[in-house]
Amino acid sequence: MNTYFNLKRIYYIGMGFVIAAMITGLLWGNPHFHQMDSTFMMHVLLVALVSLCLLMYPAFRNRVMKTVLISAAIAYFYTIFFLYPDTWSTFIYICLIPAISILFFDPKLFYLTLFMNTAAITSIVSYVMITQKGGLYVLIKQDLIGNMINFFGSQIILCLLFYLTYLRIKKQRLYYEQIQQAERIKTAGQLAAAVAHEIRNPLTVVKGFLQLYEQDSSYNEEAKKHFALMIDELDTAEEVISQFLTLSAPSKEISMEKIKVKESLYNVVGLLHSYGLLHANRIELEAEEECTIAANQMEFKQLCINLIKNAIEASEDGHSVLVRAKQVKHNVEISIIDHGKGMSEMEIQSLGTPFYSLKSKGTGLGLMICFNIVKKYKGTIRFQSVKEKGTTVTLQFPLYEEMM
Ligand code: ADP
Ligand code: MG
Repeated sequence: MNTYFNLKRIYYIGMGFVIAAMITGLLWGNPHFHQMDSTFMMHVLLVALVSLCLLMYPAFRNRVMKTVLISAAIAYFYTIFFLYPDTWSTFIYICLIPAISILFFDPKLFYLTLFMNTAAITSIVSYVMITQKGGLYVLIKQDLIGNMINFFGSQIILCLLFYLTYLRIKKQRLYYEQIQQAERIKTAGQLAAAVAHEIRNPLTVVKGFLQLYEQDSSYNEEAKKHFALMIDELDTAEEVISQFLTLSAPSKEISMEKIKVKESLYNVVGLLHSYGLLHANRIELEAEEECTIAANQMEFKQLCINLIKNAIEASEDGHSVLVRAKQVKHNVEISIIDHGKGMSEMEIQSLGTPFYSLKSKGTGLGLMICFNIVKKYKGTIRFQSVKEKGTTVTLQFPLYEEMM
């Protein structure tokens, strides 16, 4: 807020000087002043117009206003160039016209100004040459080529200046947006953690009571079987919530462990089994023994859960998902293969972008998290997909022995 007011003040002070200079030019030593002829009136009109535009600009900062302002400035500079052929320095202003639009950081406006300026100078020079007014505009005529080269040179410099500054500003804007997005993810994560925590507490209480009843002899065997089942289900729910909590609090100390890939995948598949059954999708696991990698157990599971879940969600009811793990040279290769709806080349390019999701209830965070985990443990992830045919996601991690 403060900087805005400061900027506004600087703007008005600067414009005060500009307007004062224009009025001085109008009144001081102006050969047309005493005649009060149409030339002078034109000059007065343009000074008034430009001043008005400059003063009104902060109140209406839209594109129309900007275009009007630039057009007024162009008209003003060309008019004084025309009216006072003896003042060579007005040519400098003409060269600098596009610089005004640099201030607005609007590429379209800038290129339009550049174009208008070049067209105007070309027509003026042609006019002077054709109508044989070279006598009046001595400065143009004397070194026509040199002046034109200087004019075009100055336009190229301004163009470069604008382009480089524009790129920089754009980069900064992008960076700012990324920071904002990261902040959003953080907030979402914190909220998720809070909710997960709130759910875990009542679950623990219910589980405790069920365990008590399970040991209570007043219940018959049939009821006790049901208690055991309920406890099992609650365990699964707890497990899911724990996974979720590790996901939303990734900065906690995370240890590297030796992970037996087959065992870990077996757990994950078990966890997702009921999810797959919801849509009659089976998950098949083919894993070689003895594949081990170095990573954090929870994160590795999180990675596989996200990928297999995506595969199930992409598959039609009844199709199965294949998870395969094998050793390839010094790496462990894990493939998750589905025969679902697949992705186009463009869609693959967008994967991992936060909030990129084609699902109505998707978060678009799953793959972003996956990419981070893969990178962290020096692995690679590759997507091969054919639209309507299916997708194969291939993970590769260095063997445990290679990492240690
Ligand atoms: P979400 O699952 O919440 O949508 P993800 O980051 O996990 O977010 O996935 C992003 C998008 O990538 C999905 O919405 C989906 O369109 C696409 N996608 C991921 N995996 C597959 C797959 N196996 N088959 C087809 N599309 C997929
Ligand atoms: Mg997903």
